[in-house]
Amino acid sequence: MDVFDQIISGATPAEVILRTDRFIAFLDVRPVFPGHTLVCPLDHYETLYDLPVELYAELLIAARRIGLAQQAPLVADGTLLVTNNVVSQSVPHDHLHVIPRRRKDGLRGFLWPRSRPTVEELRTVGDQLRAALTDEEAR
Ligand SMILES: [Zn+2]
Repeated sequence: MDVFDQIISGATPAEVILRTDRFIAFLDVRPVFPGHTLVCPLDHYETLYDLPVELYAELLIAARRIGLAQQAPLVADGTLLVTNNVVSQSVPHDHLHVIPRRRKDGLRGFLWPRSRPTVEELRTVGDQLRAALTDEEAR
């Protein structure tokens, strides 16, 4: 049982913002910015790819509600939605970070540094991914 299951069961306290039939949203105890919220399925799924696809819309709808709720009280200009899968995923229970952003807030760690692939390099990776998509659909 991971710490999120303990929060869900009530065994571990958390600052819960929203709870629906299938999801819970609570404040990250080590926020990037104040109001940084995690949206988790109540049932244990280790990563986003383990979450049943029929729950994806509900996950994003919950995240949308949180992101919109952050705007006025936190004077947020925008939102960063991010999910780590396995790498950098500190708790092995799927969770979507909803992080309020402000212009010039100094956050540069995500999606950085960037590379500059050539057109040919982009095409090679594109070919690999298109082929993998076809394989996936064929299963
Ligand atoms: Zn769990």
